[in-house]
Amino acid sequence: MTPREPHRRPQLGFLYLPPYRVQGLSIAGEETVVQIPELDVVFDIGRCPRAALTSPYCALSHGHMDHSAGLPYYFSQRQFQGMGTGTCICHPDLAPLIHDVMQSFMKLEGQKTPYEVAPLAPDDETLIKPNIHLRAFKTAHTPTSLGYVAVERRTKLLPELAGLPQEQIMARKEKGEPITREVEIPLVCFTGDTMWGDHFDRPDVLQAKVMIVECTFLEPGHKSRAAVGMHLHLSDVVNLLSKCEAEAVVLTHLSRRTNIGAARKHIDEAIPAEHRDRVFVLMDGRTNRARLDQQKAEAEAEAAEAATPRV
Ligand SMILES: [Zn+2]
Ligand SMILES: [Zn+2]
Repeated sequence: MTPREPHRRPQLGFLYLPPYRVQGLSIAGEETVVQIPELDVVFDIGRCPRAALTSPYCALSHGHMDHSAGLPYYFSQRQFQGMGTGTCICHPDLAPLIHDVMQSFMKLEGQKTPYEVAPLAPDDETLIKPNIHLRAFKTAHTPTSLGYVAVERRTKLLPELAGLPQEQIMARKEKGEPITREVEIPLVCFTGDTMWGDHFDRPDVLQAKVMIVECTFLEPGHKSRAAVGMHLHLSDVVNLLSKCEAEAVVLTHLSRRTNIGAARKHIDEAIPAEHRDRVFVLMDGRTNRARLDQQKAEAEAEAAEAATPRV
């Protein structure tokens, strides 16, 4: 009898939540890496799957190995593949530790790997794309931890000037009067590992269009276990759904103990019907594949319709 083949690495989870792709791996205790290619950022790095290399920014939520182990590899491979120097955005307390890790790796390898560390204190932000800033916020996990929200800044005409003729608006501008205001649009939020806390009252978190949230414990009897590890329980997610405006809430960091079928059952039982359509599970490959096929079919039908000459 021939021996059994080793397990394959799990396939990357993939969701298309227009205009964003949310892709990566996230299994509690094993590996978490969640990439938004459109925002040039990968949240945590897990063991650095190949796809994650394309993001020039890696925003680290905390130092647990399953979230951070791939960081030296990310820096080194980006260099090796000629992709430019990667930047790790992290809590200021973590920055010297990352330098230590990189110094050790450079000694181990006998070569110099270019890398950048950009410390970001809670409530500070850094520009990641034109008009798009990544803001850190304090979360509550066993070691020092941060969540992140990507925020777009747009300059808009003052509402009282809407509809006025262009000459009148320009005349105001020439007089030195303000004609615009800056508005902030929270785009994507990544909670990282955290327990429930007042960070879930923040307007920027609650208004994000896409919310990527950890949900480590699902079973009704596991609330105390969630509290010990400073993680969220499905009941916290139900709470969050009742107050957040997100069009899509992506659950990550589910435990391997619960298979996806059982996880779906817990989710459907706990989440009220009116919220179910906006809840996604990153690692539910089968459901996400069916949805993607449907999105493709709809896009093809639309393209065919657009190409049909009207008579
Ligand atoms: Zn974790
Ligand atoms: Zn953790």
